[in-house]
Amino acid sequence: MQPELPDDRPRGLYFLVDLVNTLQGDPEATAAGLQAVVDLHGGPPRRLAGASVPELREAVALLVAVLDLDDVNRAADAVNALLDRYPSRPRLVRLEGRPWAVHGQTPQDAGPVHWLLSTAALALALWLGERGRCAWGRCAAPGCDRYFVDAGRRSPQRFCSPRCGTRVRVTAHRRQYGR
Ligand SMILES: [Zn+2]
Repeated sequence: MQPELPDDRPRGLYFLVDLVNTLQGDPEATAAGLQAVVDLHGGPPRRLAGASVPELREAVALLVAVLDLDDVNRAADAVNALLDRYPSRPRLVRLEGRPWAVHGQTPQDAGPVHWLLSTAALALALWLGERGRCAWGRCAAPGCDRYFVDAGRRSPQRFCSPRCGTRVRVTAHRRQYGR
């Protein structure tokens, strides 16, 4: 029997997807804006502060290359390549008010980009291993390029949000029945 997925299990992934969406959706994104994403997710404070936006864009491009994959074997190879390049030491950590969870600990002298990519690689690896498929994707709604974490248990998720799903259904319905 599968234990219930604890609420915060893919927490790291939600943060990463949010970061990817913020950077991709805003060509003018600033370091302060990105730090706001970290803070919103209760991330370790000031972890990204030392990175420049172009550096972060480069890092995010590596993550997008994985999030764009829907073949699980290719995704596993890609995640393993990230784990090789950006290793971290996995530890069980218990943050206040949360259950024990695996966190990657990066060396003290690792820069923010290494921290980000090693965190991402570990989060993606755990998630892929648990779900056995690429449980993420890019929104299928026209004009929406947002990525999402697919935490559903049933059919694969297609949209980033219920809003995008509704928008597409309403459009299809109008097309079918002439408004
Ligand atoms: Zn969407």
